[in-house]
Amino acid sequence: MSIPRPDLPSDLRLETLAIREGLPPSPYGENSEALYLTSCFTHPDAATAAKRFADEEEAFVYSRFSNPSVTIMERRLAALEGTEDCIGTASGMGAILLLVLGLLKAGDHVVCSRSVFGSTIKLLAGEFGKFGVETSFVSQTDVVEWKAAMRQNTKLLFAETPTNPLTDVCDIQALADIAHDGGALLVVDNCLCSPALQQPVKFGADVVMHSGTKFLDGQGRVTAGALCASTSLVRGKFFPVMRSAGISLSPFNAWVVAKGLETLSVRVLAQSAQALELARWLEAHPAVARVYHPGLASHPQHALAMRQQNGHGGAVLSFDVKGGREQAFAVIDATRVCSIAANFGDVRSIITHPASTTHGRLSEDQRAAAGITQAMIRLGVGLEHLDDLKADLARGLDKLSA
Ligand SMILES: *Cc1c(COP(=O)(O)O)cnc(C)c1O
Repeated sequence: MSIPRPDLPSDLRLETLAIREGLPPSPYGENSEALYLTSCFTHPDAATAAKRFADEEEAFVYSRFSNPSVTIMERRLAALEGTEDCIGTASGMGAILLLVLGLLKAGDHVVCSRSVFGSTIKLLAGEFGKFGVETSFVSQTDVVEWKAAMRQNTKLLFAETPTNPLTDVCDIQALADIAHDGGALLVVDNCLCSPALQQPVKFGADVVMHSGTKFLDGQGRVTAGALCASTSLVRGKFFPVMRSAGISLSPFNAWVVAKGLETLSVRVLAQSAQALELARWLEAHPAVARVYHPGLASHPQHALAMRQQNGHGGAVLSFDVKGGREQAFAVIDATRVCSIAANFGDVRSIITHPASTTHGRLSEDQRAAAGITQAMIRLGVGLEHLDDLKADLARGLDKLSA
């Protein structure tokens, strides 16, 4: 026996799978997915329980590693990413923890972009460094540096594209080729785009990593994470670690993300379109020095981004105001619609000063090397009316240029 799938035709499109993939309804015939808040599952008899614990029969056993609400989310996300399988985790960082625990051992080497999410750098360089897994950090955009960093013991290449807050884009196909030539795997953190815009496996990535906290939930309610990959990686490498390590995704959070996935495509496409409009408007504003958004023709990797991201720039943009921290703070403090916070991927627009929050723990030199100035503002663009968002930013910007 294996866990049943919904009875669906085989040629469905992503928008349909995002709503219909998962599990068949329970015997009660609920239309919206039930929330399975149970820590363990019962068995018809002792012999069946024994078979299920020995993995001889697939069934739900214990929610540390198997729960129907989590399975629904995993199947939906795998369908969207175009991978055979997926495993949910407690957060995005939990997904990276599971990745390294599942694939690496002491003496192994990782090559990673220098511009990835700060906690990713801390986890790889700091925590895993302690256990003898070494990471070399290289340029986000220069593939020659990635190639030069490869060693005999390199097992993993880790990329995030586009990056936050500068929206630098890396060439997934080129990195996949370097990884595979060296007998390594390519992992792509797909948080900034989500599968609604970019499916890294199409360009050769082996594992797609997610923070469900961002666009997948989409309404800023829960933390969640996931790894999407082949069945052999998910069942063979990640599942056994999950079974003993307990970085588990809670059924409630999985249920929230599964419902979020139903509207992922419409949300992200609309948010991305609003972001591009705002980026163009900001580029023309006299108080703005520079705008970072992959959808702009002025973006250094615009052509690559359009190819990889289905023609969309994404819903995160950054801009430098003319001046410094004082001017950036004035624009942020003049907003009355945007949330002053340090997140994105929400239908609520979020405005952030990276230099003093998300990147506040870096030295001024490290920030300068990363291109993050005191004048920079990041915007996670939501679904409020575009004119209200423009007016919210204009309130502070117009004062600066007056
Ligand atoms: C937020 C984020 C993470 C970490 O996810 P959590 O759910 O907060 O643990 C990893 N990578 C990127 C790009 C992110 O934005």
